Amino acid sequence: KQAEYEAFLDRPSMSADGVQVELVANIGSSADAKQAKLKGAEGIGLFRTEFLFMGRDTLPTEDEQYEAYRTVAEAFGADAPIVIRTMDIGGDKELPLLELEKEDNPFLGYRAIRISLDRPELFKTQLRAILRASAHGNVKAMFPMIATLREWRMAKQLLEEAKQELSEAGIPFNPSMETGIMIEIPAAAMMADRLAREVDFFSIGTNDLVQYTMAADRMNPKLSSLSDPFHPAVLRLIDRVIAAAHAEGKWVGMCGEMAGNPLALPVLLGMGLDEFSMSAGSVTRARWLLARLDRERLQNLARAVLDVDDAADAKALVLREVPEVS
Ligand code: PEP
Ligand code: MG
Repeated sequence: KQAEYEAFLDRPSMSADGVQVELVANIGSSADAKQAKLKGAEGIGLFRTEFLFMGRDTLPTEDEQYEAYRTVAEAFGADAPIVIRTMDIGGDKELPLLELEKEDNPFLGYRAIRISLDRPELFKTQLRAILRASAHGNVKAMFPMIATLREWRMAKQLLEEAKQELSEAGIPFNPSMETGIMIEIPAAAMMADRLAREVDFFSIGTNDLVQYTMAADRMNPKLSSLSDPFHPAVLRLIDRVIAAAHAEGKWVGMCGEMAGNPLALPVLLGMGLDEFSMSAGSVTRARWLLARLDRERLQNLARAVLDVDDAADAKALVLREVPEVS
């Protein structure tokens, strides 16, 4: 099988009925970018930049960040989409440098954009670095853990300030850099119709979306049956988010683990997902599978999984309709 998948290394990411999607990779460092390209990713759907901040004694400077982001853009060339997510510290990712207080419920706590909005200088340093990298490729910025429109608007405002600062200094960047948000909190999924009016794109973070929807800590192995994106409650949220984005003419991707799961691909394709971001090692298999799928036909499957009682039924439906996934 592996050799069959490898044959899809640089084919277009297209379904049997000619629908093109993007198969891109999640990375945690700029050094991973080259490898991701070699494994067939056509861009980066999630650069987890927090790893640039962790395990060191000082915060990375604007120049250091710029170099890291530019390296990723240059590994792929001018047109490939490169989605750089601003830092997602907190939850399970600690950063002693920031001297954050210990919390009883870190996943429900001070995390990601919540910290960034409280520390505008730290945030704007990162935003300027991302903007500067946008002069070297199809770089896009993405904000993690958005729960409200207000947070999105505040983050966007700080991005505008960062642009202003660069303009005044005569430093080049792409003034129309696409800017989107992760949909990983149920509140944002419920407000997706409103958020979609203002953002350029969504990327659904199912790792957190499942944990917050099912109230099941993603790190707790005892809860693994609840930590399953096939629960119809989660599938209904995902379907809503995709429809909300498309109603406003925006594209929508997914960068949680679900995006790389062969069992999920037919459902997500049927729902109309535009971009799938996964670990680089999963890309060729996803492209092989995609080429065997008919999106038109899968629209019925995508409706059917919203109408089942539980995750097991949803998975059984997929296996029955698309035996190639197993
Ligand atoms: C997610 O929550 O699905 C996601 C991609 O973000 P992270 O795993 O980094 O929290
Ligand atoms: Mg997340």
